[in-house]
Amino acid sequence: MQFTYKFIVITTLQTDRSIIAVLATEREAENDAFRIYLKNSNGKETDLLVQELNREIEPQIDCTSCGACCKVLMINVKKAEAQNLASYLKISETDFKNKYIEESQQGQLIINQMPCHFLEDSRCTVYEHRFTECREFPHLHRDNFKDRLFGTLIHYAMCPIIFNVVEALKTKTGFKQ
Ligand code: SF4
Ligand code: SF4
Repeated sequence: MQFTYKFIVITTLQTDRSIIAVLATEREAENDAFRIYLKNSNGKETDLLVQELNREIEPQIDCTSCGACCKVLMINVKKAEAQNLASYLKISETDFKNKYIEESQQGQLIINQMPCHFLEDSRCTVYEHRFTECREFPHLHRDNFKDRLFGTLIHYAMCPIIFNVVEALKTKTGFKQ
């Protein structure tokens, strides 16, 4: 499917998470329909659009006063990231792992608690040293958006970045007139 893309100017973003939660409930059927609508779209063009919207919207939303994803995501940690954060916290790597990390049988490290240990009053206390997985969520800068759409919409009610990008995408693709 080829879309006739509309020029839109995003003037007002919805950042109130309680309003977003209500709208998300109201728009469940609409989002299911949007998922089907996007299925036949050109994946590359959709990626470019999502990435453009994300570049515009993401800087306008303050993750440091949200922290919603830090309460629900299972965060994978690379060994080097664990070492880096242990060093920043001035504790040994062993103490860091004992306190904060669980290791799977395959050797995968994950933060052993949700909400994350490092979240305090909705703020990340180690923001400059946070993990790659924290930096990459909600992954709207990455290719293959359509393949991740189901997972992205699971977090639509929680994440103001996802909510606003998806809403702008509905308009830009002509789904929502
Ligand atoms: S990525 Fe989304 S859910 Fe996570 S802190 Fe930022 S706005 Fe909130
Ligand atoms: S390290 Fe910081 S950004 Fe990452 S999940 Fe924990 S509190 Fe959130």
